[in-house]
Amino acid sequence: MRLNLIGPPGAGKGTQAHRLVERHNLVQLSTGDMLRQAVTAGTEIGLKAKSVMDAGQLVSDEIVIGIISERLDNRDVRNGFVLDGFPRTLAQADALAGLLEEKRMPLDRVILLEVDDEALVERISGRFTCSNCGAGYNDTLAPTKQPGVCDKCGATEFSRRSDDNAETVRERLLAYYKSTSPLIGYYHAKDLLSRVDGMGEMEAAAAAIEEILAAIRG
Ligand code: ADP
Ligand code: ZN
Repeated sequence: MRLNLIGPPGAGKGTQAHRLVERHNLVQLSTGDMLRQAVTAGTEIGLKAKSVMDAGQLVSDEIVIGIISERLDNRDVRNGFVLDGFPRTLAQADALAGLLEEKRMPLDRVILLEVDDEALVERISGRFTCSNCGAGYNDTLAPTKQPGVCDKCGATEFSRRSDDNAETVRERLLAYYKSTSPLIGYYHAKDLLSRVDGMGEMEAAAAAIEEILAAIRG
Protein backbone atom coordinates (compact mmCIF):
# COMPACT_ATOMS: atom_id res chain seq x y z
CA MET A 1 0.00 0.00 0.00
CA ARG A 2 1.26 3.45 -0.90
CA LEU A 3 -0.35 6.30 0.99
CA ASN A 4 0.05 10.01 1.34
CA LEU A 5 -1.20 11.86 4.42
CA ILE A 6 -1.89 15.55 3.98
CA GLY A 7 -3.31 18.20 6.27
CA PRO A 8 -2.28 21.25 8.26
CA PRO A 9 0.52 21.17 10.84
CA GLY A 10 -0.80 19.53 14.00
CA ALA A 11 -3.55 17.60 12.21
CA GLY A 12 -2.04 14.33 13.42
CA LYS A 13 -0.21 13.17 10.30
CA GLY A 14 2.80 11.97 12.24
CA THR A 15 0.69 10.10 14.79
CA GLN A 16 -1.40 8.38 12.14
CA ALA A 17 1.68 7.60 10.06
CA HIS A 18 3.28 5.93 13.10
CA ARG A 19 0.20 3.82 13.57
CA LEU A 20 0.10 2.78 9.93
CA VAL A 21 3.75 1.76 10.15
CA GLU A 22 2.97 -0.49 13.12
CA ARG A 23 -0.25 -1.99 11.80
CA HIS A 24 0.56 -2.39 8.14
CA ASN A 25 4.28 -2.70 8.09
CA LEU A 26 4.74 0.38 5.95
CA VAL A 27 7.77 2.63 5.80
CA GLN A 28 7.17 6.19 7.03
CA LEU A 29 8.55 8.88 4.75
CA SER A 30 8.50 12.15 6.68
CA THR A 31 10.48 15.01 5.20
CA GLY A 32 10.04 16.90 8.48
CA ASP A 33 11.79 14.07 10.38
CA MET A 34 14.46 13.77 7.68
CA LEU A 35 15.14 17.50 7.81
CA ARG A 36 15.32 17.50 11.62
CA GLN A 37 17.81 14.63 11.41
CA ALA A 38 19.87 16.68 8.96
CA VAL A 39 19.77 19.63 11.36
CA THR A 40 20.91 17.46 14.28
CA ALA A 41 23.65 15.87 12.20
CA GLY A 42 24.77 19.32 11.07
CA THR A 43 24.89 18.40 7.38
CA GLU A 44 24.94 21.03 4.65
CA ILE A 45 21.21 20.55 4.06
CA GLY A 46 20.57 20.76 7.79
CA LEU A 47 22.43 24.05 8.06
CA LYS A 48 20.39 25.50 5.20
CA ALA A 49 17.09 24.19 6.50
CA LYS A 50 17.29 25.15 10.17
CA SER A 51 16.53 28.86 9.94
CA VAL A 52 13.78 28.28 7.38
CA MET A 53 12.11 25.70 9.60
CA ASP A 54 12.41 27.84 12.72
CA ALA A 55 10.69 30.65 10.83
CA GLY A 56 7.84 28.30 9.94
CA GLN A 57 8.51 28.57 6.23
CA LEU A 58 8.94 25.87 3.64
CA VAL A 59 12.33 24.48 2.76
CA SER A 60 13.03 24.73 -0.98
CA ASP A 61 11.40 22.25 -3.35
CA GLU A 62 14.83 21.37 -4.68
CA ILE A 63 16.09 20.22 -1.29
CA VAL A 64 13.08 18.16 -0.25
CA ILE A 65 12.59 16.60 -3.68
CA GLY A 66 16.26 15.60 -3.61
CA ILE A 67 15.85 14.01 -0.17
CA ILE A 68 12.73 12.05 -1.16
CA SER A 69 14.12 10.98 -4.50
CA GLU A 70 17.13 9.46 -2.77
CA ARG A 71 14.97 7.83 -0.13
CA LEU A 72 12.72 6.21 -2.76
CA ASP A 73 15.76 4.43 -4.20
CA ASN A 74 15.95 2.36 -1.03
CA ARG A 75 14.49 -1.13 -1.44
CA ASP A 76 12.42 -1.00 1.75
CA VAL A 77 9.85 1.31 0.15
CA ARG A 78 8.76 -1.45 -2.21
CA ASN A 79 6.67 -3.11 0.49
CA GLY A 80 4.62 0.04 0.82
CA PHE A 81 5.01 3.45 2.41
CA VAL A 82 3.19 6.32 3.98
CA LEU A 83 4.27 9.82 3.03
CA ASP A 84 3.84 12.37 5.82
CA GLY A 85 4.65 16.02 5.16
CA PHE A 86 5.63 15.52 1.54
CA PRO A 87 4.55 16.76 -0.97
CA ARG A 88 3.76 20.21 0.37
CA THR A 89 3.65 22.20 -2.88
CA LEU A 90 2.25 21.51 -6.35
CA ALA A 91 5.80 21.37 -7.72
CA GLN A 92 6.65 18.69 -5.15
CA ALA A 93 3.47 16.77 -6.03
CA ASP A 94 4.38 16.78 -9.72
CA ALA A 95 7.93 15.70 -8.99
CA LEU A 96 6.63 12.89 -6.79
CA ALA A 97 4.20 11.71 -9.47
CA GLY A 98 7.11 11.54 -11.94
CA LEU A 99 9.34 9.61 -9.53
CA LEU A 100 6.62 7.11 -8.64
CA GLU A 101 5.66 6.59 -12.25
CA GLU A 102 9.27 5.86 -13.14
CA LYS A 103 9.39 3.25 -10.39
CA ARG A 104 5.93 1.84 -11.22
CA MET A 105 4.75 2.57 -7.71
CA PRO A 106 1.70 4.83 -8.04
CA LEU A 107 -0.07 6.17 -4.94
CA ASP A 108 -3.11 4.18 -3.84
CA ARG A 109 -4.69 6.93 -1.79
CA VAL A 110 -4.20 10.43 -0.45
CA ILE A 111 -5.81 11.00 2.94
CA LEU A 112 -6.62 14.52 4.07
CA LEU A 113 -6.81 15.01 7.85
CA GLU A 114 -9.17 17.91 8.49
CA VAL A 115 -8.86 19.98 11.68
CA ASP A 116 -10.00 23.50 12.63
CA ASP A 117 -7.33 26.17 12.93
CA GLU A 118 -8.03 26.98 16.60
CA ALA A 119 -7.50 23.36 17.55
CA LEU A 120 -4.23 23.24 15.65
CA VAL A 121 -2.60 26.01 17.63
CA GLU A 122 -3.52 24.39 20.94
CA ARG A 123 -2.37 20.96 19.77
CA ILE A 124 0.98 22.14 18.51
CA SER A 125 1.86 24.57 21.27
CA GLY A 126 1.83 21.91 23.99
CA ARG A 127 3.25 18.95 22.20
CA PHE A 128 6.27 16.88 23.09
CA THR A 129 7.65 13.45 22.15
CA CYS A 130 9.41 10.63 23.91
CA SER A 131 13.07 10.77 22.90
CA ASN A 132 13.31 6.99 23.09
CA CYS A 133 10.23 5.62 21.27
CA GLY A 134 8.80 8.71 19.58
CA ALA A 135 5.39 8.51 21.28
CA GLY A 136 3.60 11.85 21.06
CA TYR A 137 2.05 13.74 24.00
CA ASN A 138 0.51 17.11 24.78
CA ASP A 139 0.72 19.12 28.03
CA THR A 140 -3.03 19.70 28.29
CA LEU A 141 -4.66 17.45 25.70
CA ALA A 142 -2.72 14.21 26.12
CA PRO A 143 -0.30 14.22 29.06
CA THR A 144 1.66 11.16 30.13
CA LYS A 145 -0.16 9.08 32.80
CA GLN A 146 2.72 9.54 35.20
CA PRO A 147 4.39 12.94 34.93
CA GLY A 148 7.76 12.73 33.21
CA VAL A 149 7.47 9.03 32.28
CA CYS A 150 6.57 7.72 28.82
CA ASP A 151 3.42 5.52 28.92
CA LYS A 152 4.72 3.33 26.14
CA CYS A 153 8.34 2.64 27.04
CA GLY A 154 8.99 4.12 30.49
CA ALA A 155 11.71 6.49 29.28
CA THR A 156 12.08 9.84 31.03
CA GLU A 157 13.66 11.92 28.28
CA PHE A 158 11.39 14.02 26.08
CA SER A 159 11.93 16.57 23.38
CA ARG A 160 10.07 19.55 22.00
CA ARG A 161 10.43 20.89 18.48
CA SER A 162 11.90 24.37 18.29
CA ASP A 163 9.22 25.36 15.75
CA ASP A 164 6.33 24.34 18.03
CA ASN A 165 5.64 27.80 19.46
CA ALA A 166 2.61 30.05 18.95
CA GLU A 167 4.28 32.54 16.55
CA THR A 168 5.85 29.93 14.31
CA VAL A 169 2.61 27.97 14.22
CA ARG A 170 0.83 30.95 12.63
CA GLU A 171 3.52 31.12 9.98
CA ARG A 172 3.27 27.37 9.33
CA LEU A 173 -0.50 27.64 8.95
CA LEU A 174 -0.04 30.44 6.44
CA ALA A 175 2.44 28.33 4.47
CA TYR A 176 -0.07 25.49 4.56
CA TYR A 177 -2.95 27.53 3.15
CA LYS A 178 -0.79 29.27 0.59
CA SER A 179 1.31 26.41 -0.73
CA THR A 180 -0.04 23.07 0.45
CA SER A 181 -3.84 23.36 0.42
CA PRO A 182 -3.91 23.48 -3.43
CA LEU A 183 -2.92 19.81 -3.25
CA ILE A 184 -6.45 19.04 -2.08
CA GLY A 185 -7.84 20.04 -5.48
CA TYR A 186 -4.91 18.43 -7.26
CA TYR A 187 -5.48 15.00 -5.71
CA HIS A 188 -9.24 15.32 -5.90
CA ALA A 189 -8.89 15.82 -9.65
CA LYS A 190 -6.74 12.71 -9.82
CA ASP A 191 -9.48 10.80 -7.99
CA LEU A 192 -7.15 9.92 -5.16
CA LEU A 193 -8.48 12.03 -2.28
CA SER A 194 -10.28 10.78 0.84
CA ARG A 195 -11.18 13.10 3.72
CA VAL A 196 -10.94 12.14 7.37
CA ASP A 197 -12.20 14.15 10.33
CA GLY A 198 -9.14 14.81 12.47
CA MET A 199 -10.95 16.78 15.19
CA GLY A 200 -11.89 13.90 17.47
CA GLU A 201 -9.83 11.30 19.27
CA MET A 202 -6.79 9.90 17.54
CA GLU A 203 -8.51 6.46 17.58
CA ALA A 204 -11.52 7.82 15.69
CA ALA A 205 -9.34 9.16 12.88
CA ALA A 206 -7.39 5.91 12.86
CA ALA A 207 -10.62 3.92 12.50
CA ALA A 208 -11.75 6.14 9.61
CA ILE A 209 -8.40 5.57 7.91
CA GLU A 210 -8.74 1.80 8.36
CA GLU A 211 -12.11 1.92 6.61
CA ILE A 212 -10.55 3.71 3.66
CA LEU A 213 -7.78 1.13 3.47
CA ALA A 214 -10.26 -1.73 3.63
CA ALA A 215 -12.11 -0.21 0.67
CA ILE A 216 -8.87 0.02 -1.33
CA ARG A 217 -8.12 -3.64 -0.75
CA GLY A 218 -11.66 -4.39 -1.92
P1 ADP B 1 4.26 19.95 10.66
O1 ADP B 1 3.49 19.40 9.51
O2 ADP B 1 3.77 19.43 11.97
O3 ADP B 1 4.39 21.42 10.64
P2 ADP B 1 6.79 18.71 9.70
O4 ADP B 1 7.61 17.92 10.63
O5 ADP B 1 6.11 17.97 8.60
O6 ADP B 1 5.75 19.47 10.62
O7 ADP B 1 7.66 19.88 9.06
C1 ADP B 1 8.40 20.78 9.83
C2 ADP B 1 9.05 21.83 8.95
O8 ADP B 1 9.96 21.19 8.03
C3 ADP B 1 8.10 22.61 8.05
O9 ADP B 1 7.52 23.72 8.71
C4 ADP B 1 9.03 23.02 6.90
O10 ADP B 1 9.85 24.11 7.25
C5 ADP B 1 9.94 21.81 6.75
N1 ADP B 1 9.41 20.83 5.76
C6 ADP B 1 9.03 19.55 6.02
N2 ADP B 1 8.60 18.94 4.90
C7 ADP B 1 8.70 19.86 3.90
C8 ADP B 1 8.39 19.86 2.52
N3 ADP B 1 7.88 18.77 1.90
N4 ADP B 1 8.63 20.99 1.80
C9 ADP B 1 9.13 22.08 2.38
N5 ADP B 1 9.43 22.15 3.68
C10 ADP B 1 9.22 21.06 4.46
ZN1 ZN C 1 8.67 6.19 24.94
